[in-house]
Amino acid sequence: MPGPQKNLAASVNGSRLWDRHMAMAEVGGTPRGGVHRLPFSAEDTASRRLLLSWAEARGFSAQMDDFANIFVRRAGLDEAAPPVMSGSHLDTQPLGGKFDGVFGVLAAFEALEALEDACVQTKRSVEAVVWSAEEADAGFGIGCLGSQVYADPTKLLPLSQIVDNKGTTVREALERMLRDHPKLPRRDFRAPISSYVEAHIEQGPALESGGHTIGIVTAIHGQRWFEVELFGEAGHAGNFPEKLRRDALLAAVQIIAELRALFYDPSDIVRFTIGRLEVDPNALAVIPGYVSFTIDFRHPDEEVLSELGDKVAVVAAKNRGPCEVKVSEIRRSRTTPFAGIVPKAILAATTNLRLPYCHIASGAGHDARYIAELCPTGMIFIPCWRGISHNELENASPNDVAAGARVLAETLLVLANCEF
Ligand SMILES: [Zn+2]
Repeated sequence: MPGPQKNLAASVNGSRLWDRHMAMAEVGGTPRGGVHRLPFSAEDTASRRLLLSWAEARGFSAQMDDFANIFVRRAGLDEAAPPVMSGSHLDTQPLGGKFDGVFGVLAAFEALEALEDACVQTKRSVEAVVWSAEEADAGFGIGCLGSQVYADPTKLLPLSQIVDNKGTTVREALERMLRDHPKLPRRDFRAPISSYVEAHIEQGPALESGGHTIGIVTAIHGQRWFEVELFGEAGHAGNFPEKLRRDALLAAVQIIAELRALFYDPSDIVRFTIGRLEVDPNALAVIPGYVSFTIDFRHPDEEVLSELGDKVAVVAAKNRGPCEVKVSEIRRSRTTPFAGIVPKAILAATTNLRLPYCHIASGAGHDARYIAELCPTGMIFIPCWRGISHNELENASPNDVAAGARVLAETLLVLANCEF
C-alpha cells in the first residue's frame, strides 16, 4: 500500500540526482573531467546498464525497441493509456561533457523516483526514455537517430545503412547493442505517447547571464546544412604561374568572405557556421586542387531560412573564379514550435516554484524535434557554465540541476493526470 502522499517537488532529491550525474560521468570519463561515450560504444552500453540497474532497484519496469531506445516506466492507474514521456540521450560528443543529454535522462528518472517517494499515483504511466545515437559528430554524421526512427519507422532501413568513419554500419553497431540487452522486453516503434517533455542544459549563455534558472523553450530553430565543393587543379607552388592557376582554396576563401558578409546579422539571430574545411592535397608546396567546406545555417523564421539559404548557391557561383563549384544541400529541417499544453504546464510549475525564468528558442537540435511530430511536446532548459557544451569543461550547478528536475517532475505530474 502506498503511504500518505507528500509534496512532489520536495521529494526531488538534489543530492541523489547530482550523485547519479557523477556516477554516470565515470562511464567513459576522461582525465580532464569530460566524458567520451560515443553512440553504440561499449561505454554507451555500460551507461544504459547503470541506469537499468537503478531502475531495477526501484522496481520500475523497462523496455527496449528495435533501435535500442530504452523506456523506464513507473506504472499509472490506467496502464492502457499512452504514457507521458520524458528523457534525452546518454551518448556524448567525442570528448564531451557530463550534462548534455544526461541531465534530461537523469532528471526524468529522478521525477519517477520522486513520484514514488511522494507516494503519488498518476492516471497515466510516466516513462523516462533514453534515445539512441543523438550526437551527430560522434559517429554517423547524422544526429537523433533513435528519436527519428521512433517518430517515423520508415527511416529504420535508410538510417541503418549509414556508415561511420571506421566502416561500421548503424545496423552492425545497433545489433551489437541489442545483443547486449537480451533480457529487456521489446516494444513497438510508435507506441503512442500522450505528451513529451525534454530537459536539457541550454548550451548557450543566455540563462546564466540573465540570472534565469529555467528556460521555457519556445521552438527549435530550423536549419539548413550545405556542402560547397570547389574543383580546381593541383600544381607546383613554385613553377606554376599565377594567371594559369585554378586554386580551389583561393576560390573557397573568396566565397566564404562573401557569405560571411551576406549572413552577418546585427540582431544576432542568424546562426552561420563553417565548421569543416577540407583541402586536397593539403600539402605545403602544392596549389590546392580541391576544397570542400560545410555551412550550418539556423534561424527561427522559415522565410529567412528559405531566402538566405537559397543565396548560398548564387554567391558560390559568382565567386568561384576559374574553378568549378558544386553546392549540395545535405540537410534541411523546419522550425519546430513548442506551444500548448506542455509549455503551459512547464510555465505553471516554474511560477509555482517561484523560479526565475525566461522564454527561449533553441538553436541546437534535440530529440524533442522529432517526438513533437507525434504528440504535444516541450522543453525545459537549465543554465550551463559560461554556455559551454560539447566540451570536457561543460558544467552545471547542483542547484540548477535540482531546480530543473523539480520543474520537470511537477510538469509530468500535471500531464500524467490531465484529460486530453
Ligand atoms: Zn543533447
